[in-house]
Amino acid sequence: MKKIIIAIDGFSSTGKSTVAKQLAKELNYIYVDTGAMYRAVTYFALENDLIGEDFFHIEKLIERLDDIKITFKYNKDLGFAEVYLNGRNIEKDIRTLKVSRYVSPIATISEVRQKLVEQQQLMGKDKGIVMDGRDIGTVVFPDAELKIFMTASAETRAKRRYKELLERGHNLSYEEVLENVTTRDRIDSSREDSPLRKADNAIEIDNSDLTIEEQVDSLVKLAKTIV
Ligand code: C5P
Repeated sequence: MKKIIIAIDGFSSTGKSTVAKQLAKELNYIYVDTGAMYRAVTYFALENDLIGEDFFHIEKLIERLDDIKITFKYNKDLGFAEVYLNGRNIEKDIRTLKVSRYVSPIATISEVRQKLVEQQQLMGKDKGIVMDGRDIGTVVFPDAELKIFMTASAETRAKRRYKELLERGHNLSYEEVLENVTTRDRIDSSREDSPLRKADNAIEIDNSDLTIEEQVDSLVKLAKTIV
């Protein structure tokens, strides 16, 4: 069967990755979480004191981009590929509110985007891929055969993310999570390079009242109409 590229973009915490992961499984496609790549660069910047409460050494980070090697390795037990930074599994470390706070400023740097977009395009060269992010349908794969743009109200999204973080044992308030979600959306949508926006030919799905199964089902059906 002909393999296609499925691009899923949308606001923070719209459940893109959960749906994309399951969709990839159903279609026997590779799933790539591009947010994890921006988070990996952020983790590197935090570890190397290149960004913090009152400093951001952009030039130094750009100089060190060649020292950052991001890879994915499939974990059979989890059923998805975990992210590695220079050979170290950082899948859990990048899901903290601290990384979430710094990732959007890092993602405004064109040199960072260039490096990651190049790698993402290579990963999709044989198609058969579901990739989620903010600029997949607009910049990474403007010719993707299927483009989805996910939305949901900020409150719905913050509630989901809050629940997820609590379940993982993080200690924070709902207000902090809501603040992070809305701030990231603002920075992601207003940055100069590759701002978050719906591609002209993307299908918009507001999933505020949809279950994951309902979303996956309709996307599998959609993908099969294209193949
Ligand atoms: O998808 P996730 O919420 O993990 O993404 C974290 C951040 O990475 C986003 O808020 C955005 O700033 C950045 N990002 C991006 N382009 C992508 C994927 C993520 O700018 N393709």
